[in-house]
Amino acid sequence: GGRGKELMSPQCSVSGVYHVFESVAKKYDVMNDSMSLGIHRLWKDWLVRHMNPTPGTQLLDVAGGTGDVAFREQEGSLVGSKAVICDINKEMLKVGKEKSLRLGYSEGLSWVAGDAEELPFADEKFDVYTIAFGIRNVTHIETALEEAYRVLKPGGRFLCLEFSKVNNPLLARLYDLYSFQVIPVLGEIIAGDWKSYQYLVESIRRFPPQEEFKEMIEDAGFFKVTYHNLTSGVVAVHSGFKL
Ligand code: SAM
Repeated sequence: GGRGKELMSPQCSVSGVYHVFESVAKKYDVMNDSMSLGIHRLWKDWLVRHMNPTPGTQLLDVAGGTGDVAFREQEGSLVGSKAVICDINKEMLKVGKEKSLRLGYSEGLSWVAGDAEELPFADEKFDVYTIAFGIRNVTHIETALEEAYRVLKPGGRFLCLEFSKVNNPLLARLYDLYSFQVIPVLGEIIAGDWKSYQYLVESIRRFPPQEEFKEMIEDAGFFKVTYHNLTSGVVAVHSGFKL
């Protein structure tokens, strides 16, 4: 049945990542909550508090998925800010758009299908660029960072929320156990999709640690690059400015 198809997609298609998210789009929000025990909500809250949006802010949320970051930004900026949610997967955008109508966030939002490596936007259009749990999935991270730089206005800010390297040895061991033993099982039980969640865990391991990623952001041209670890580095928020 459906399970066979989902097992095949990540390995057999040209664009594996696309199919991974297509197969989980509908259950995406449920999975996020169960796998992170709800903590992803606090990380996203932190990201948007750190962004400190104002009424005029033009936000671009890349790999925005079902809109979690953009919804929070709309709340934080109170009135009048505009956010564009860009994602390569139309299914994710569709789920997000439906959610925005349900939650009453639809006014300032637009939903655009597009690739982080080739953003469908003019130069210097946005005040803030966010990417939450997205850059890890992009094939050429350097290209995505260059695109982020291109679409930001001078003075604009880059903010990235991503899994990172845990800096507490005890927590690191528990986290390893949880990642390799629990997450794929949960993926199978809740979404019927072991492979996608194994991919998730592996992609987290492959992603560069805090300092290395910081250097990549600097190499793309950003200034004043800093990062904050959250939950002992389970995730980190990197920030940089275009001057
Ligand atoms: N930002 C959302 C959140 O935090 O809930 C969604 C994160 S989800 C783990 C990753 C998203 O990245 C998926 O919606 C996927 O479609 C998208 N994605 C993967 N590769 C992409 C690319 N090259 N360009 C744009 N989006 C991409």
